[in-house]
Amino acid sequence: MKTVETIKELRANIKQAKRKGKKIGFVPTMGFLHEGHLSLMRKARLETDVVVASIFVNPTQFGPNEDFEAYPRDMQRDALMTEECGVDYLFTPSVEEIYPENYVTYVDVEGDITRQLCGKNRPGHFRGVTTVVSKLLNIVTPDYAYFGKKDAQQVAVIDKMVRDLNIDVGIVPCPIIRDHDGLALSSRNTYLSSEQRKEAKILSQSLFEAEKLIYQRKLDSKKIKEFLIDRISSAKNAIIDYVEIVNGKNLNQVNEISGGVLIALAVKFGKTRLIDNIGVEL
Ligand code: AMP
Repeated sequence: MKTVETIKELRANIKQAKRKGKKIGFVPTMGFLHEGHLSLMRKARLETDVVVASIFVNPTQFGPNEDFEAYPRDMQRDALMTEECGVDYLFTPSVEEIYPENYVTYVDVEGDITRQLCGKNRPGHFRGVTTVVSKLLNIVTPDYAYFGKKDAQQVAVIDKMVRDLNIDVGIVPCPIIRDHDGLALSSRNTYLSSEQRKEAKILSQSLFEAEKLIYQRKLDSKKIKEFLIDRISSAKNAIIDYVEIVNGKNLNQVNEISGGVLIALAVKFGKTRLIDNIGVEL
């Protein structure tokens, strides 16, 4: 595996691989890797010839009171893990490499898709995500880019951006990888105290219970939301940001559950904001 810090060097390597007819797979991350990230890299390894992973903690997607500075980082450990997954190029640009002085261009996906769910309480978050992902896609020019369904809204927004801007890449959504008790793996789980960590399993547990209720034809979304809020509130440190049931495709709110829906939630334990979701197909 080669670690590359500059856009110029990465582009030269990718051009060479493309000249040989190689298919490029790309996995963008913010590092502090776990099995969730690695599952994307392994899938890319299976499906493409040259795998590029990036580690870049993107300042533009963090709000002023969010955890950009504190976000966990461990480049040495991450490099070992990516190498074990068979990644060919690990791209680790500096903030100045991605946002040089006088940088002024942003990509904004408008409409409800970015305004609701995580967009409500994190203004500007998706603008930061779509800006950095479009830049990374322009730099790497992959055939396929791999994203986790853990960030279901992010995948939907990126998919929309790629279609609207005619970016020539296949977006591959990948399953959520969970810990032994069901908690979705996240770099932010390291912030949790041991008490909060124990309580946090209520998120996936309540989602799985809600899924069961839907399969038992309990289709009133208001009632399912009430059930979820009730279950999650049983954890004494949990502060609910949102619990929503939306159409799985356009993320619009649904009243009566039918077809494919996404149950998505964001809950704070102390200062740590966790997200999780489940797709339910009727
Ligand atoms: P992040 O480093 O949090 O920006 O995540 C980088 C990529 O890994 C995104 O596409 C995430 O959706 C994905 N990812 C993070 N956690 C998980 C998980 N538990 N399961 C699957 N994919 C994940």
